[in-house]
Amino acid sequence: MKISLITLGCPKNIVDSEWLLGALVRPETELVDSMEQAEIIIINTCGFIQSAKEEAIETIFEAIQQKENGKCRKVLVTGCLVARYLEELKKEIPEVDGFYSNRDLPLAIKSIARTLNLSNEKSTRRFLLTPKHYAYLKIAEGCNNCCSYCAIPLIRGNLRSFPFEEIIQEAQQLAQKGVQELLVIAQDTTRYGVDRTDGKRIIDLLQQIVQIEELKWVRLMYTHPAHYTDDLIDFIAEQPKICKYLDLPIQHISNRILKKMRRKVNRQQIEALINKLRTKIPELALRTSVIVGFPGESVAEFDELLDFISSIKFERLGAFAYSPEEGTPAYEFSEQIAPSIQQERLEQIMEVQSRISFEHNSSLIDTVQQVLVDEYDSYQQKFIGRTQRDAPEIDNVVWIENAGLETGKLYPVRISKTYEFDLYGQVI
Ligand code: SF4
Repeated sequence: MKISLITLGCPKNIVDSEWLLGALVRPETELVDSMEQAEIIIINTCGFIQSAKEEAIETIFEAIQQKENGKCRKVLVTGCLVARYLEELKKEIPEVDGFYSNRDLPLAIKSIARTLNLSNEKSTRRFLLTPKHYAYLKIAEGCNNCCSYCAIPLIRGNLRSFPFEEIIQEAQQLAQKGVQELLVIAQDTTRYGVDRTDGKRIIDLLQQIVQIEELKWVRLMYTHPAHYTDDLIDFIAEQPKICKYLDLPIQHISNRILKKMRRKVNRQQIEALINKLRTKIPELALRTSVIVGFPGESVAEFDELLDFISSIKFERLGAFAYSPEEGTPAYEFSEQIAPSIQQERLEQIMEVQSRISFEHNSSLIDTVQQVLVDEYDSYQQKFIGRTQRDAPEIDNVVWIENAGLETGKLYPVRISKTYEFDLYGQVI
């Protein structure tokens, strides 16, 4: 049975797809890369914001087209779009053979296996979709922070931290499979364990994970500025395996907007945290995300954000236009900003950030960086890798001139050239 699984959305969805494939990959099935080759098309959707929803719907109709052309037998849909709009989807797209909410992932996996007449025992292994030298480790599902613009709590529900021992076991299994870089993910990793009674927190997890010998890099993603503790910061600072890289979405910096976003922190607290992080971890690369065009954002408040970004000089930054999501408090807010103004503000932010990124990169010329080689680009005839300062897919890469390198291996690379976002170098 030829199966094509299309995964949309964030790394948390990638992990879900890997568990699903862990149950579906077996002697009687064959994974194929594209819809065109498949008898069964499964789409793991994202339903977070408007653009993601549109992409999911487009992909579903592409698959239905395959079925109507007699190219495939079944189209199955799972993921966040289903968790959010199950009944509407069933009514509006009856051509789909099955919708499976990811609210209860083990149940969705069992139901999909049953629909494919495959024995539906519990999925006990992950079939990695990432290159085998790095993997995502999801430590919790859902979120209780309830930021006013965010649909995640509506989709994934309240925070459910996974059992401590199960996470450690999974990390050990991944390391035994050859994983060297582990990316720790959740909606808010700094909130791990607060919903459990065993008293374990993110620092306890990290302390255990860095003991795993095979692991070289442990990367902490999706942290929240309101949930850092001094002992966590100290631990990150002193632990060589923990990447000196932190993903710290601030979303905005104006106190009035932060309050309307229900981010639970104000400007002073964000500034104090960044100062503390940079003081304790001098070589730190800080990634952040910001939202522009939030309802009521005045020109002055946007300028405050732009000035802050210009002065703080984040090493990495992602900027997004606010997307009104029904069911979230912000959806009802007055003074929604016109998309054209949102776009203008987005462009201003990215223009400033590309200059800052070039400045940061230029400071690395003639330095030697440890680079993890991810892949070979046959078109450019170069290897592509990342420093500790770069997470896969979202950050910068290093193009390496040398031939004959091994993917998944760390090399000392002298940086010789830089562009806004990418670096070039040679192994020394
Ligand atoms: S912390 Fe992140 S996932 Fe949680 S509600 Fe806020 S934006 Fe959404």
